[in-house]
Amino acid sequence: MRDDAPKHSPNVQEPGEHNSEAGFARLDREAFPEFEPGTVWLVGAGPGAPGLLTLLAYHGLQRADVIVYDALVSDAILGWAGPDAVKEFAGKRGGKPSHNQRDISERLVELAKSGKRILRLKGGDPFIFGRGGEECEALAAAGVGFRIVPGISAGVGGLGYAGIPATHRDINHSVIFLTGHDSSGEVPAGVDWGAVATASPVLVMYMAVKNLPEIAERLLINGRDEADAVAVVSNATLPTQRVVETTLGEVGGLAKSGVLDTPAIVVVGKASQLRENLDWYAGQLMANAIG
Ligand code: SAH
Repeated sequence: MRDDAPKHSPNVQEPGEHNSEAGFARLDREAFPEFEPGTVWLVGAGPGAPGLLTLLAYHGLQRADVIVYDALVSDAILGWAGPDAVKEFAGKRGGKPSHNQRDISERLVELAKSGKRILRLKGGDPFIFGRGGEECEALAAAGVGFRIVPGISAGVGGLGYAGIPATHRDINHSVIFLTGHDSSGEVPAGVDWGAVATASPVLVMYMAVKNLPEIAERLLINGRDEADAVAVVSNATLPTQRVVETTLGEVGGLAKSGVLDTPAIVVVGKASQLRENLDWYAGQLMANAIG
C-alpha cells in the first residue's frame, strides 16, 4: 500500500485487518455496488441449492423492490428476499409457457421505468440457455440500465454435485454445451449433429430429456458409439438429486419409459464414469438444505 493512500475508506477492509463483526454479519458492511432505482439486475440463482448463490446475488435480493423469477428458482432462495420485496412469477407452469418472452421483457422495462429496483432471477446462469441475452437487448433498446450477476450453470456446477468433471485431462480437451429443444420444443435444427457427434468426447445437454430418443439416434447415426457412457443428472444439487447411469444405446428407451426425472442434465462421454470414485454427494451431505 502506498504511504499516502488512505488507511481506512468506508466499507473497505485492508488485507489482514480484522473486522469486529464475524462471518455473514460482515457482508452487510461490504462495499457492494449500489442497486440504483430504475435499473434491472439480471441474476443467476445457480442450479438449485441456495448455498450456491453468489454474494452479489444475495445482496441484490436484499435490496430489490421487485423480484421477477423463473420456475426453477427455489423457494429457499426467494426466502432470502428483503421483507418488502414483491415477487412476480414469470416462468412456465406444467411445461406450458404462461408468459411469452416479449411479455417478460416488456414487463421488466415497465417495472424499471416505474423507478423501482428490479431483480430478474433466473436458474443457473442467465446467459446460458436462459434467454438473458434477449432480455438485456430489450432493456438496452429501452435505455434501461442493467447489471449481469452470473450464476453457476447446471451443466457445470450441477455436474460437480454428481461427481462428474466437465473436463479431465485424460478424457477431453473440449466440451460442447447444447440444448435439446428449440423454442417450439423440437430438436434444434440449428445443431449440426454430424459435427457434434464427433467433435468432443464430452457433451453436456440441457433440456434434452423429452427429445432424448431422437437426439441419441442422431448421435448414433453420425458415428457416436452406442456403448458411450451417459449420465442423466436430475434435480442436481438438491436433496432430490438422482443420477441415472446408462449408455447412448440405452438412454433413448429410458427416456421413452418416463423414468428420467426433470429438470436434468444429460452428459454423454467417459467423464460420467469418473463418478464411480467421485460421487461425494450422498447420505448426510445430501440432507443439507443449503447445499
Ligand atoms: N440458465 C440455466 C439453464 C436454463 S434451461 C443454467 O445455466 O443452468 C433449463 C434447463 O437447465 C433444464 O431443462 C435442465 O436441463 C437444466 N437444469 C436447471 N437446473 C437443473 C438442476 N437442478 N438439475 C439438472 N438440470 C437442471
